[in-house]
This record gives sequence, C-alpha cells and structure tokens, in this order.
Amino acid sequence: MGIKGSSTRQVFFNDVRLPAENMLGKREEGFKIALNVLNTGHINLGAAAIGTSKRAFDLAVKYALERKQFGSSISSFGAIQHKLAQMAVRIFAMEAATYRTGQFIDEKMAALEAEGFSVEKAEVAAVSAYGIECAILKVFGSECLALVVDEGVQIFGGMGFSEDAPMARLYRNARITRIYEGTNEINRMLIVEMLLKKSNTGELELLQAAKQVQKELTSNPAEKRQAGGGPVAAFAILKDLKKATLITFGAASQRLAKKLKEEQEVLMHISDMIIQVYLLEAVLTKAENLRINGEVKTLIT
Ligand SMILES: Cc1cc2nc3c(=O)[nH]c(=O)nc-3n(C[C@H](O)[C@H](O)[C@H](O)COP(=O)(O)OP(=O)(O)OC[C@H]3O[C@@H](n4cnc5c(N)ncnc54)[C@H](O)[C@@H]3O)c2cc1C
Repeated sequence: MGIKGSSTRQVFFNDVRLPAENMLGKREEGFKIALNVLNTGHINLGAAAIGTSKRAFDLAVKYALERKQFGSSISSFGAIQHKLAQMAVRIFAMEAATYRTGQFIDEKMAALEAEGFSVEKAEVAAVSAYGIECAILKVFGSECLALVVDEGVQIFGGMGFSEDAPMARLYRNARITRIYEGTNEINRMLIVEMLLKKSNTGELELLQAAKQVQKELTSNPAEKRQAGGGPVAAFAILKDLKKATLITFGAASQRLAKKLKEEQEVLMHISDMIIQVYLLEAVLTKAENLRINGEVKTLIT
C-alpha cells in the first residue's frame, strides 16, 4: 500500500554458524534485546510521525491558500480553518511530548553513565526505563499522523485522491505506522501492562495513590472550579484527569485483579486515559515554558 521505497521481505536463517564472540548477548536472552529495540523504535516512529505530519500540514496550508472556490480562498472557510487547527494542535502536542521524553531519557542516560555504565548499556537501560512513554509516543504519533494526512487529503478535495498531488502518497505511507513496531492495539495493552508491573513490583505506588484519591473524593466536597481559562485552570484540569485515571486504574486492578489483562476493552480505555494525560502534561509544560520565557513564536515551521 505504501512505503514503496522500503522493500519488505522475510529473512530466514537456516543452519547459520557464527563465532561465539559475535553473540550480542547471552543465549536465550535475545527476546529482551528485541524488546529494547522496540522501545527505541517506538520513540523513533513517534518522532518521524512529527516530520511527516509537518510536511502534510505545510502542503495543506499552501493548498488551502491557493485554492479558490465560490470566489474565495478555501483557507478563509471556517471548516478548513478548523481542520488546520485540529492538525496543528496534535502536531504541537506530539512534538512537546517527544522532546520531553527525549529529555527524560537523556537525563537518565547521563545519570547511568555517571554510575559507570557504558554508553550502550546506559542507552538501553534509559530507554527501557521510559518504555511506557515510548509506547505512548508510538500510539499517539501514528494516530496524530493518521488524522493529519486524512484531513490533508480532505483539504485537497478531489486532488487529494489523485496520485498527481502529494497528499495521496503521504496518506498511503502513514497507514503502516499504526501497524508496525507493534500494532497500536498491542501497544495500548503494553502501556497498562507495564504500568501494572511497576505497580506490582512497588516501583510506582499507584494503588496507594488511587486509594488516596478515592478517600479525598469521599471526604471532601467537590472543589469549586474558578470560571475562565488560562494556565491555572488548565493545570487544575490536568490534576483532575490524573485523579480520574488513577481511580479507574485502581478500581480495575482491584476488581479484576489478574483478569484485568484479559479485559482488553478496559485496557484500551485506561490506556487512552494515560495517553491523553501524558500528552496534556507535555503540552501544558511546553506552553507554560513558552509563556514564561516569552518565546511564543510560530508553532509550526
Ligand atoms: C511494510 C512492513 C514493514 C515491516 N517491517 C518489519 C521489520 O522491519 N521488522 C519486523 O520485525 N517486523 C516488520 N513488520 C511486521 C510488523 O511488525 C507486523 O506486521 C505487525 O507487528 C503486526 O503483526 P501481524 O502482521 O502478524 O498482525 P497480527 O498479529 O495477525 O494482527 C492482526 C490484528 O489483530 C490484532 N491482534 C493481534 N494479536 C492481538 C491480541 N493478542 N490482542 C488483541 N488484538 C490482537 C492486531 O492488533 C491487528 O489489528 C513489517 C510489516 C510491514 C507491513
């Protein structure tokens, strides 16, 4: 369907002999290496999705400015402006979350190297420590791209459906990103499963936090939200969304226990809540930094 510049083939290794010193790791531990490769692949795919989304966005803006219908440039129509806004919002969010995660990984890597880890081992450990975030970027990035190219085709109208215009190729190529590097369904489940593991091993005290929120809600009357928008209101909403996610995760873990892993519909919903919260936090943090540092420039190049 797409990415025709990349040949897709199966590779079989039959009776291959290789020197023992060429082993990448210990015998029977290859799967771990494969999983670590996937973590890196997830953040890479997310970052690549930003690039393609920006290209599609630029093309859509240019076409919208040039194309005239009913005597006006289609860019003057609210319906087209709404589409462009939806595209820009997602690209901004994806970029904020990707750089933020990259920074977390860089900081973790530097800390591990300071502890004596080699660069390679530090990189594997640092990316793996942010495996959940990398999976979030894979899912959101590929779905951001899906919306951007889909609306890109729509803005191009009939020309969007034609291979003579550039949007058709971007649309076809984008489709694979929701399938490879682990399908988005598998990644959504992985996000919750990795979180469950961190909760069960005590790395994150999620169930205690969920109980605390539950207590808070039953003992305190609902906080009155101040009318209006702005950063304070936005961060307050983020706080509430985190609480809602924690309560849902806690209730599902408690009620379903080991069966939770089999309840895929529930996992999908919890995963979507986690993805939205992570993206929203990255957006608000980036917007707040831009506001404080007075660096509000054109958001999309
Ligand atoms: C162009 C292209 C390039 C590729 N490049 C590579 C590569 O470089 N390296 C590599 O290793 N692989 C590569 N792949 C393979 C790719 O990673 C797989 O196609 C992908 O992971 C999905 O696996 P599948 O095709 O077996 O689909 P299936 O596993 O059969 O999935 C079919 C559907 O069922 C869903 N599904 C499957 N299992 C479950 C489950 N347990 N619970 C819920 N839903 C489920 C999936 O989400 C999907 O929607 C490539 C594929 C393509 C098309």
